[in-house]
Amino acid sequence: MSALLLSVDLEDVRDWVKDGYGYREAVPDNTRNYLQHFRKWGVRATFFVVGRVARRYPELIEEIVEAGHELACHGDMHLQLDKLSPHAFREDLQENLSALQATGAGDIQGFRAPTFSLTSKTAWAHDVLADLGFTYSSSVLPAANPLYGWPEFGRKTRQLPSGIWELPITLRSFPGLQVPIAGGVYFRVLPFILTRWEISRSLSRGEPVGTYFHPYDIDTGQERFMHPDLGEKKHLNMLMYIGRAKVFKRLEILQRSFPFQSYGEYVSRLEKTSPES
Ligand SMILES: [Zn+2]
Repeated sequence: MSALLLSVDLEDVRDWVKDGYGYREAVPDNTRNYLQHFRKWGVRATFFVVGRVARRYPELIEEIVEAGHELACHGDMHLQLDKLSPHAFREDLQENLSALQATGAGDIQGFRAPTFSLTSKTAWAHDVLADLGFTYSSSVLPAANPLYGWPEFGRKTRQLPSGIWELPITLRSFPGLQVPIAGGVYFRVLPFILTRWEISRSLSRGEPVGTYFHPYDIDTGQERFMHPDLGEKKHLNMLMYIGRAKVFKRLEILQRSFPFQSYGEYVSRLEKTSPES
């Protein structure tokens, strides 16, 4: 079963940048820009929302809900899972859930670990999610990676014994390197012909393709500053600013050829066709 899964990781990069709040407030405008495009194309997306961002912009979150998109959790304070104990993760998630539910979101089904930080070392996170009533997670990068990665998990979407569906992020293999081709920096920087071909190939094999974008991925007016998690490397930071004007153009082309769906819609289709249910 295939679909192009559309998602935005709704976070405020200023929260982790030195003297970040001195830079302009960009999350509301960038989010509304996504909403306008999604409305124009008639597509539904999943917004994985950081709790503190929901508390900062409750009206913005309500607009997302009113537009018919899905809200899901992305950590209350956007802490990578290896920085949390199972108990602290549960508390962080409960805060994240309350922040979203306060905006009238209703039932929350999904979770994405900050920085795809769910690995073999933090596999307990799936059990905590099941315990709190989540249905799915899109938190695993199924390859060796300098930051986080869980190569042994495998690339296929599957239901774990706890009942949680894990939808690992879609990778493309290059010699010596596997990258999440349909999201963030890679979606902007890699040649589009390659991305499109890879998406088409995965969909024709019946596999879902997971996309993820951030507010800054489309922000062509953002000031220059060093982004977090790049080890202060200037050449990597330069990539953060490349191709931002291309994101909507590329998505527009993709939505004409392929069916977009929210993660939640896709998972409920999976549940209906799963032999166990
Ligand atoms: Zn994030």
